[in-house]
Amino acid sequence: MVAADSRSVAAPLTQLSEEETMFQSSVRQFARERLAPHVRAMDEAGVFRKDLIQEFFDLGLMGIEVPESHGGQSGSFFQSILAIEELAKVDPSASVIVDVQNTLFNNALLRWGSDAQKRRWLPRSARDTVAAYALSEAGSGSDAFAMATRAFDEGSQYRLSGRKLWITNAAEAGLFLLFANLNPDLGYKGVTAFLIERDTPGFRVGKKEDKLGIRASSTCELILDDVRVPKENVIGEPGRGYKIAIQTLNEGRIGIGAQMLGLAEGALDHALAYSRERRQFGKLISEFQGVQFELAEMAVEVEAARLMVYNAARRRDADLPFLTEAAMCKYFASQIAERVASRAVEILGGVGFTKDYPVEKLYRDAKIGRIYEGTSNMQRLTIAKQILGAAPKQSRDHQRTDSNRSPASSV
Ligand SMILES: Cc1cc2nc3c(=O)[nH]c(=O)nc-3n(C[C@H](O)[C@H](O)[C@H](O)COP(=O)(O)OP(=O)(O)OC[C@H]3O[C@@H](n4cnc5c(N)ncnc54)[C@H](O)[C@@H]3O)c2cc1C
Repeated sequence: MVAADSRSVAAPLTQLSEEETMFQSSVRQFARERLAPHVRAMDEAGVFRKDLIQEFFDLGLMGIEVPESHGGQSGSFFQSILAIEELAKVDPSASVIVDVQNTLFNNALLRWGSDAQKRRWLPRSARDTVAAYALSEAGSGSDAFAMATRAFDEGSQYRLSGRKLWITNAAEAGLFLLFANLNPDLGYKGVTAFLIERDTPGFRVGKKEDKLGIRASSTCELILDDVRVPKENVIGEPGRGYKIAIQTLNEGRIGIGAQMLGLAEGALDHALAYSRERRQFGKLISEFQGVQFELAEMAVEVEAARLMVYNAARRRDADLPFLTEAAMCKYFASQIAERVASRAVEILGGVGFTKDYPVEKLYRDAKIGRIYEGTSNMQRLTIAKQILGAAPKQSRDHQRTDSNRSPASSV
């Protein structure tokens, strides 16, 4: 028998390091004290408060993985996941602002940007400039690389024309990572990633969507009308945009998993609290087995989602393959978020259906989890390909760049 102290025992997934615990507590405190009082009004107005976004920057939440040398926190991807989860418990709109900034924009720049590009833009995205990630168009959602937005090589610069749709953070953003096709004859291998600054002539943020949920998070159209972009604003190489998109979305999906996990936890917390206060038939409703069983099932689902999200995030930080885990955690967490929020509404009874309590909003907010960053069907396609072996076996390279065979089904 091996002595206990000589055995190498892996830490439980949910065990946080001291640094992670401190970080989680500070975001939790911010969410409860600063964010919560404004959530209802922001949802009704469909606008996120600028002062709160500035507080995200001040707390370091907009540059979690950005190195300190570029004004960030030099934190881990897992810390971004913790932040997204904690914010989503209170407001999934707040959490998606931080999610897009960290898991899509900063992530793409950190991995694909040149040193000069990192020095130029990361200090801004970490300190004071909201960023957006613009891939989707009216005609290309799941089939993202069928994009119609064109880039034309004009020697010293590129000229971009087209429209993007559904772009999160667009109303507030100063920096846009935008994908356009430089050579449609090459199909997705013409897709190129550009960094566009908001005040570039010919670039406009258009109509803002009026949505069912995450109403305070802006979702807008982008209009590009002969936008001149310097060549040094290409992220990665021309024609490599599809790889950047796939890689960042693979990681971004863990962020959406965390958003949905936090949302479900928030709904469960409200249901637990209410069940301990509400009396019917002379008893607290938490004393009825029917209610207890509902709460127990909700807690099981939250725990399962947490394990999946944390596992995918920790695998990503450990440099292990995580493509399947990311798709699974997003798929599952978005399912349980809907279910847990729905049950929370029921446990609160009539008041759960009103705007006086936060669960109706969480129920509305949950719906987006099954749509953005790849619909549930697209996650199922990715998972099925992996388990059936139709896709190349997962490797560090493939989960970052995906196969050349059918990239569209991964978005
Ligand atoms: C609030 C919000 C925020 C968003 N933020 C961003 C953002 O910041 N940046 C960005 O680029 N995009 C963003 N999007 C776009 C989002 O990623 C797309 O809406 C999503 O990928 C789905 O695309 P679609 O809407 O065109 O639906 P479609 O692709 O038209 O899908 C419609 C239905 O068909 C199904 N379907 C499609 N193809 C297949 C298939 N091959 N097999 C089985 N089923 C299929 C889908 O699952 C879905 O149920 C956002 C969207 C919303 C609503």
